[in-house]
Amino acid sequence: MTTIRLCFLYFFLIVALAGCGSPDGSEPTPAETLDDGIDLIVQGDYVVTMDAGGTVIENGAVAVEDGVIIAVGPAANIMSEYPAAEVLEGTNHIVMPGLVNGHSHAAMTLLRGVADDLALMDWLQNYIFPAEVEFVDAEFVRIGTELACWEMIRGGTTTFVDMYYYPDTIAEVVERCGMRAMISATVIDQRSPDAEDAGDSLSKGVGFIERWQGKNSRITPIFGPHANYTLDAEQLAATRAAAIELGAPISIHVSESPYELQYSQDTYGMTSILLYESIGFFEGPTIAAHVVWPTEEEIPILAERKVGVIHNPTSNMKIASGISPITEMLDAGVRVGLGTDGAASNNDLDMWEEMRLAAFLQKVDRMDPEALPATTVLSMATSGGATAVGLGDSVGTLGPGKRADLIQVAFEDVHHIPTYDVISHLVYVSDEQDVASVVVDGKVLMKEREMLTIDTDRVRTEATALAARIQAALAARNQ
Ligand SMILES: [Zn+2]
Repeated sequence: MTTIRLCFLYFFLIVALAGCGSPDGSEPTPAETLDDGIDLIVQGDYVVTMDAGGTVIENGAVAVEDGVIIAVGPAANIMSEYPAAEVLEGTNHIVMPGLVNGHSHAAMTLLRGVADDLALMDWLQNYIFPAEVEFVDAEFVRIGTELACWEMIRGGTTTFVDMYYYPDTIAEVVERCGMRAMISATVIDQRSPDAEDAGDSLSKGVGFIERWQGKNSRITPIFGPHANYTLDAEQLAATRAAAIELGAPISIHVSESPYELQYSQDTYGMTSILLYESIGFFEGPTIAAHVVWPTEEEIPILAERKVGVIHNPTSNMKIASGISPITEMLDAGVRVGLGTDGAASNNDLDMWEEMRLAAFLQKVDRMDPEALPATTVLSMATSGGATAVGLGDSVGTLGPGKRADLIQVAFEDVHHIPTYDVISHLVYVSDEQDVASVVVDGKVLMKEREMLTIDTDRVRTEATALAARIQAALAARNQ
């Protein structure tokens, strides 16, 4: 934008150079190369790059142009080398990569707190699935996803991997709010809000992927077969075949609960991951949510097949699904990221809480305080999470050439005093309220806690009104 504005300035000042640009797209004129600078610089007392060497730069800055990080280094150098149209000041702020929420059902924010304190299958079959068939339509998904994007941006999440219904509506919301997302078309063999059965949901998913592939670089359309207890082996294999045909990744719930384990054993004569391996399901990119109950035999398969495992500690604790062996999977070379799951089983979308609980859960389960240290957990929420979902080449670390998805975390609250170790505070102290600014693809989505792409008053009003209708309907039904 700056370049264009300056081009017009030069047009008037340097008439001899015949103005701004070549209408035919040929080589730029000398006037065009006389740019005043780059789009954005983000400063911080510390820049936590999350690169392979764990580089942390004191008094650092990140230079951004056309949505890409072009330089990371000491603020003094960046500021003198790159005049910028906009600078996000960094006093008492930490700069780090945006958080990657590897598993969510964003629109379920509208079912936040509608049914608590229940086991997974009771919760799903007797509360969530019926409520969804009754209440979920495109309007529900639009409002719920907007509410979720507001909450995620506020909390420093820049990328999320979603699985819900009406994926076109989800994609339209993401397009407007500016986040990065992998959006699954849910495939499930039962009547759902947007399909009748497995065949119907799969063919609708194909349409969604064809419509959105290559349309917006921030949006990756993928398939979301629900699980191996809501689809049979043939339907799972058909979904993978369609995904391979379209070059689309898959996101799926895997080995989440003891129920699933027993169901898989009873139905297929083997546990879930062995079943998936036996039908060639891992022959394309796979994001496996939960993986609470992998067997010793199954963990090496996940590593070898480069399956991205997404750990959802809050949901696993709240529904009492179990404690995932994250330490063993990381030791075996499995790619592991973090996710919130839907707000109906969490009940928020706070990735800082997931980081903290992931660490504490491994430590207490192993009775080993060295299990899952802060640096590993921070990686799971950023660089490691990005790799797990297949976006590691473009986001998750701060370095030249990466897409500019980054956040500023304010270190000025009483709970940050004193600061001995920045990484320790990011994992064990900071929370979503500390996030000050959020940038995705070089665009500022939140600046000093002001939301710039979401009309929060409208979303609050619409979400409250829709929830009131759901509550009234539930009350009438239960009379
Ligand atoms: Zn889920």
